[in-house]
Amino acid sequence: MRPLLAMTVAELAVVLGSRSRALALGRWLWSRATLPAALPETLPAVGARALAALAAAAVLEPPTVARRERAADGTTKYALALPGAEVETVRIPGPRRSTVCVSSQAGCTRACAFCATATLGFRRQLHAGEMLAQVFVARAGADAQAPVRNVVFMGMGEPMDNLDAVLRAVAVLTGPPLQLRAERVTVSTSGVLPGMRRFLAASPASLALSLNATTDETRRRLMPQTRTWPIAALLGALRDDAARTPGRVHFVEYVLFAGVNDGDDDADRLVALLAGIPARVNLIAHNPHPGSTLVPPSPARVLAFQRRVAGAGVRCLVRWPRGRDIAAACGQLALASSRGVRA
Ligand code: SAH
Repeated sequence: MRPLLAMTVAELAVVLGSRSRALALGRWLWSRATLPAALPETLPAVGARALAALAAAAVLEPPTVARRERAADGTTKYALALPGAEVETVRIPGPRRSTVCVSSQAGCTRACAFCATATLGFRRQLHAGEMLAQVFVARAGADAQAPVRNVVFMGMGEPMDNLDAVLRAVAVLTGPPLQLRAERVTVSTSGVLPGMRRFLAASPASLALSLNATTDETRRRLMPQTRTWPIAALLGALRDDAARTPGRVHFVEYVLFAGVNDGDDDADRLVALLAGIPARVNLIAHNPHPGSTLVPPSPARVLAFQRRVAGAGVRCLVRWPRGRDIAAACGQLALASSRGVRA
């Protein structure tokens, strides 16, 4: 039995006997206010026999929303209870559209020194249906004037360590009936090079590389896997893709830590490193969390860094934290209950 949410229209069409039935079923599913626990008894556009065939092939496994917290700025964090694991999902509203931040693993094996999820250790992989269930829940709860149009795989976990499932989830998001634009679906990686290369070759979606340092020495302290995949190799993959796929933009995430990677020399090295890469840099001041001794730079230092990079001709924006009052900001996703805070 396969999770119904994770089936593409092409796969549904095989089971249901036609593409139009598959589209009708997909529209029925994604227009629900809550994820149904079972297929409908009847669906005129699909027919009883096709529905019975689907019921024999696919399951609906609605997750339980264990907690839902809404921040003052409208950012909403969901804790979803899945079999044997809990994960967090965040919806970030914009003026006209919202973004959903999806978890790809329960916990993470990458030991980034600044990340709250790393403190949890690794629980298990999520399957594509569980990633799509996160989108379903967050999308169904969005305000009508700001529907979900963007999905970022920037929640808990390292997407490249669960790439088959992530690629399947991306295919469903960008196919009918949801049809999100591929460039609005972004998969963020700590820099797992083999996965990055495979993703860039296989998917039209956007890639974000969490660079976070401009020398291997500093990056090794922040992200130990830099020993295996140094900065030059990671940026080489982006450069190769730029040659192969003109027009595709790469996002480079750069978390700023006071006194560690926020100097003018870092800004200048960042500009030099990105030569020849169609990159958009997103600066994020470190969001502190219990268990991290790193501190964020002042807002003035963040802006000075941004001006220096942008002044050198590299597109560079500051991502100010959203939902900080509910610990929903970048790198803060780690269930309070698993740390014992609320236990
Ligand atoms: N493993 C993936 C996706 C999850 S992290 C990755 O590393 O990209 C999503 C983003 O949050 C990354 O850019 C990461 O560098 C950033 N991040 C992690 N912890 C953070 C923190 N405490 N403060 C600010 N950003 C953080």
